[in-house]
Amino acid sequence: MIRIPDAEHDDLNLGERALIVCDIDEVVLEFITPFQAFLIDNGHELRPRSFRLTGNIFNLADSSETGHDEVEQLLESFFTAQDGWQTPIKAAADSLARLSEDADIVFLTAMPPRHRSVRRILLDQHGFDYPMIATEAPKGPAVKALHAGRDHPLVFIDDIFTNLQSVRAHMPETLLVNLMANDAFRALAPHPGDGVAMAGDWNEAEALIRTHLTSLPG
Ligand SMILES: [Mg+2]
Repeated sequence: MIRIPDAEHDDLNLGERALIVCDIDEVVLEFITPFQAFLIDNGHELRPRSFRLTGNIFNLADSSETGHDEVEQLLESFFTAQDGWQTPIKAAADSLARLSEDADIVFLTAMPPRHRSVRRILLDQHGFDYPMIATEAPKGPAVKALHAGRDHPLVFIDDIFTNLQSVRAHMPETLLVNLMANDAFRALAPHPGDGVAMAGDWNEAEALIRTHLTSLPG
């Protein structure tokens, strides 16, 4: 079995076929938009001027910059209450359902494992009934452990270039797809780097993945 701690994942029973590893925040669930609403509700505001949270969040009472520790606390509170805020990204469930006919799908989310159960319920509510790994470890080694040396085609979808490049470093044969729902943050995002396919939405991502899967044996 894979070397990912039991506390971090659902049952993972992969078939003898292609594997699609898919991020959650900004890929299948809205994150930035509901987090902005959550911040307003808690006396803060996200004013995106660069591709990061810390440094772009301000206290509404006095316009002072919200410090790193307080941003971390706000994120923790948001993930604790995520089922009351986060909504599905349009077309994600339909695309994944079509792709799941030909490939296994596993969610890999960079979120503390203590929030797994609430996220599991939220995903199931929106038709995302694929197993999930929640870990704060780098994604490249996690994907390598999950795929475990198999020959089947591998696809990785994420909004963050460091995650895409982490997987590229450990599993260079992977089709890497950059996908991000929030328009403001996507416009501020650094280029995801060499070897990464950029998709504007799920229809484009699905077409890229379908082409990749049909071009490879197995
Ligand atoms: Mg993400």
